[in-house]
Amino acid sequence: MTEQSHAADPPILEVRDLQKFFPVGTMFARRNLRALHHVSFTLRRGKVLALVGESGSGKSTAARCVARLIEPSAGQILFKGKDMLAEERRGASLQYRGDVQMIFQDPFGSLNPVKSIAHHLARPLRIHKKSSGTKETAERVDQLLESVGLAPARQFSDKYPYELSGGQRQRVSFARALAVEPEVVLADEPISMLDVSIRMGILNLMERLKDEHGIAYLYITHDLASARYFADETIVMYAGQIVEGAASEELIQHPAHPYTQRLLDAVPDPKAEHGFKQGAGGWQPPILVDPPPGCPFADRCPHAMPVCREIMPGRTTLNAVHWVRCHLHGSGESSPGLSEPNLPLSA
Ligand code: SF4
Repeated sequence: MTEQSHAADPPILEVRDLQKFFPVGTMFARRNLRALHHVSFTLRRGKVLALVGESGSGKSTAARCVARLIEPSAGQILFKGKDMLAEERRGASLQYRGDVQMIFQDPFGSLNPVKSIAHHLARPLRIHKKSSGTKETAERVDQLLESVGLAPARQFSDKYPYELSGGQRQRVSFARALAVEPEVVLADEPISMLDVSIRMGILNLMERLKDEHGIAYLYITHDLASARYFADETIVMYAGQIVEGAASEELIQHPAHPYTQRLLDAVPDPKAEHGFKQGAGGWQPPILVDPPPGCPFADRCPHAMPVCREIMPGRTTLNAVHWVRCHLHGSGESSPGLSEPNLPLSA
């Protein structure tokens, strides 16, 4: 990853200071669950940004805000420089909903079990006016199926989701996303429910679609190994905050934040699909309801200092492709809350 590659590649989607609170408790004792806290990142055409963290860290909430499935409490979503939240208030959002597509973790849950595969692909083609007439739509459905490796298409188009394997269903999800010619794909744990043997096939499909269509990906995962394989950059989220960001290989080789180090050391817990092995000090979930000031990782961090419980560190630049938010590396050059690019060079 070079400075030139960033300079030549303007952002297609920028998320700035995104915040999301969910009210919890009773009407007499209303409290706020802080799911996202000043989250900022940038997506570029033909590039993959991985968003990594444990289950419950806020990754999916961030993607759902960007996909406009839930409403953020504050912040901006800029698509090609336009503030999409303001555009939506003016009623101009259908184009954005086509340009930014989401792939879900469970391909079976995202498909209607009583509709054929052809129906799932023809519907977005019609809604977004990407084809006209029965014959043209059927031809486009066949093209889409073959473009995701489901060939010959006629063997799949009349089937129902339950007649396909998990990997084939996820390929249908990608074909459905491609139907509207998206510029951004938000892929939320797209391989975690698939057999290990077919995960690489889906990642290779995503890579090919990225190269052929110039798609910008947000790749959400708890698996740093697949982020290293697939993503140009990786950002790490803990308790709704981005705590570290780097070129993917740099992050794996030189993790700076204790939470990232713990993710890398973690052994998958066979009893919990998305969890990590419980450390010697026991697993402490982060406090998200009216969280105290300071670093949210302090209760789990072996290096926690008194200052960590008082002040959330700002962002410290470690080198041209790596930054971190941790008092071990300084108190930071900027306060959390300022809009920040993924990498220093992305500015
Ligand atoms: Fe640990 Fe302090 Fe760094 Fe947080 S800021 S990760 S508690 S050393």
